[in-house]
Amino acid sequence: MEILDGKKVSNEIKAEIKVEVDQMKERGEKVPHLAAVLVGTDGASLTYVGSKVRSCKRIGFESTFIHLPENTTEEELLRQVEDLNNNVDIDGYIVQLPLPRHIDEQKVLMAVDPDKDVDGFHPTNFGKMTLDMESFVPATPYGIMELMRRYDVDTEGKHTVVIGRSHIVGRPISILMSQKGKAANSTVTLTHSRTKDLAKFTREADIIVSALGVPDFLKADMVKEGVVIVDVGITRVPDATKEKGYYITGDVDFGNVSKKASHITPVPGGVGPMTIAMLLKNTLIARERHRSRS
Ligand code: NAD
Repeated sequence: MEILDGKKVSNEIKAEIKVEVDQMKERGEKVPHLAAVLVGTDGASLTYVGSKVRSCKRIGFESTFIHLPENTTEEELLRQVEDLNNNVDIDGYIVQLPLPRHIDEQKVLMAVDPDKDVDGFHPTNFGKMTLDMESFVPATPYGIMELMRRYDVDTEGKHTVVIGRSHIVGRPISILMSQKGKAANSTVTLTHSRTKDLAKFTREADIIVSALGVPDFLKADMVKEGVVIVDVGITRVPDATKEKGYYITGDVDFGNVSKKASHITPVPGGVGPMTIAMLLKNTLIARERHRSRS
């Protein structure tokens, strides 16, 4: 069994990006600039945005963190988005999800300039991705693909079962893995909460990408020997014995499933760090596109 070590690979990717940033600096060029907008004080969102901003600093990107109060109106947020669209210094930005319930998430995502949409959530980018055109690929599925590419996981002609159909993970990874290319060319089954007898599909799967957010959902009797497991789930489980008052776990019963798997991602240290690395990669791509146009 081989661990798909997202922490190690993400560090390699960040080191590669840093080399490019250092060269930009040596040439006296502008370095990539990522902005992150967070509305409210959700603990997990604060942690994610914090580590995105810290990663920018470590690799030499410029970063701007825009923290708005929970009671920010939709109109105010849309104005902020417009400002970021018009700010030539910003190469890319993200609006951290979920947004408070009084704000229409789709309206906000639609307002993001596709050229700065480094999360790849705008329909223009999602559509281009689906049509094999150059686009920003959402960071989590992009990270999963890159992790499998770098470990030479054989996906060609394999049966991949994706659990979860969200717009940010399940849906895009099912599209990407069915396309032509490395870590792709797979035969994909997309399963979700309405799937009947889900274990029937997972037991036949060569590769399982689990993105539902239910701890210990995928058990050893639901998978076959030699399966490749990508665990996207991140759930905070309350635990008074831990310093933070919780521990992080994935969707997979790691202890038992790893005994049958050929490859498996741990949680934490698997898909999570890859997501941040690919967001940085998308921001670098955005900078390069903006430079070639100016
Ligand atoms: P979501 O919460 O929007 O949706 C969950 C999906 O799971 C839905 O499509 C639903 O149909 C499916 N589902 C729910 N219960 C099910 C069941 N019993 N059987 C089969 N399918 C079921 O999904 P999301 O935003 O993609 O998040 C999923 C998990 O991945 C969460 O734990 C989230 O925190 C994590 N996540 C991790 C990263 C990362 O970087 N590692 C990034 C994004 C999300």
